[in-house]
Amino acid sequence: MNEPNEKEICPLNKNCNFHFLYNSTFNNYNLPIYLCKTCGLQKLFPRPSQLEELYQKDYYHGTASFAYTDERKNYHFHSYVWNSRLKLIQKYKRQGSILEVGSSFGGFLSRAKEFGFEIQGIELSEYSCKYANSIGIPTFQGVLENAPFSKENYDIIVLNEVIEHLPNPKLSLDILTNLLKPNGLLIIQTANFDGWQAKKESSEYHYYLPGHLFYYTESVLRNAFIERGIHRMKIYYGSDISLYSKLMKSRGSFKNAIDYLRWFKTAFYHFKSKLKWKSYPLTSGFVIYGFKGGRLEEREE
Ligand SMILES: [Zn+2]
Repeated sequence: MNEPNEKEICPLNKNCNFHFLYNSTFNNYNLPIYLCKTCGLQKLFPRPSQLEELYQKDYYHGTASFAYTDERKNYHFHSYVWNSRLKLIQKYKRQGSILEVGSSFGGFLSRAKEFGFEIQGIELSEYSCKYANSIGIPTFQGVLENAPFSKENYDIIVLNEVIEHLPNPKLSLDILTNLLKPNGLLIIQTANFDGWQAKKESSEYHYYLPGHLFYYTESVLRNAFIERGIHRMKIYYGSDISLYSKLMKSRGSFKNAIDYLRWFKTAFYHFKSKLKWKSYPLTSGFVIYGFKGGRLEEREE
C-alpha cells in the first residue's frame, strides 16, 4: 500500500505537518505517534504493513492481542445499544437508507432493518463480511475507495469506531460526503483527543492501538465537516446511547452478581462524559452527527 503524502490526507484540505509526539505506552504497543501542527490530527507511523491481515478471524474471536468483541455471542445484549442509537436516528430521519461503514457481522444493520430502514454494509474483513451476507445483510467486502455505491444514495451513514482505522482521512471524508443525499446525516463515533481523558493519559491512553491509524479531535472533525458543506452538527459527549441501554448491554458479559457493581463505574463515566472543564469535555468518547447542506441555524429536532 502506498503511503499518501501529507497534502493528500489533510481532512481540512490544507497541508498536514506532522511532528513526532511520542511512542505510545499503552499495553506496551510502543506505537510511534505523530501530531499535525496544522490541523491537530495524530497519526500512527509507520503503519502495520498488511491491514487486511489485522482483521481476520483472530481479531473477531478475541484471540488477537487487540481484539474486537464478537457481537454475535451477545446479540441480545448488544441490541439495547443498537436500538438506542436507531431511536435517536429516527428523531432526525424516520425512514430511509442506512450505509454502515465497517459493519462487521451486520448486527447494527439487522436491527436497522427491523426499524424499517433500507440497509447496506461495507466491511474489510472477508470473515465477517461472509457471515453478514449469509444472514441477509447486504455487505460489500472491501474499502470505500472501491465500493460500487452511487453518489448521493444514502440518507444516513454510520461509522462506529471506524474512522480511526481508515488510511486516508481526506479521501474517506470526501467519499462519505459524496455518498450522502442532500440533507443526509453522517454519524461518526471515535475518541476525541481534545477530551481531558486523552490529554491526561497522554501516551498511555488505551485508544492507541495497532489498527488505529489516525486520531481525531472534536475540532478537526467539526472543521472537516464544515469544509464539506456539513454545517449543522450535534455532538454527543461520551456517546449518543442512553445510560439504560449501556447498562443492559453490559449485562451480556456479567458472570455473577458482583459484576453488577460495574454499573456504578458505567454510570459514573456516563455522567462524567457530559461535563466540561476549561471548555473541553472530561472524557474522550464522542459522537458527531452532521447534516449535509442546509443553513447553519436549521434544526430537524
Ligand atoms: Zn493536519
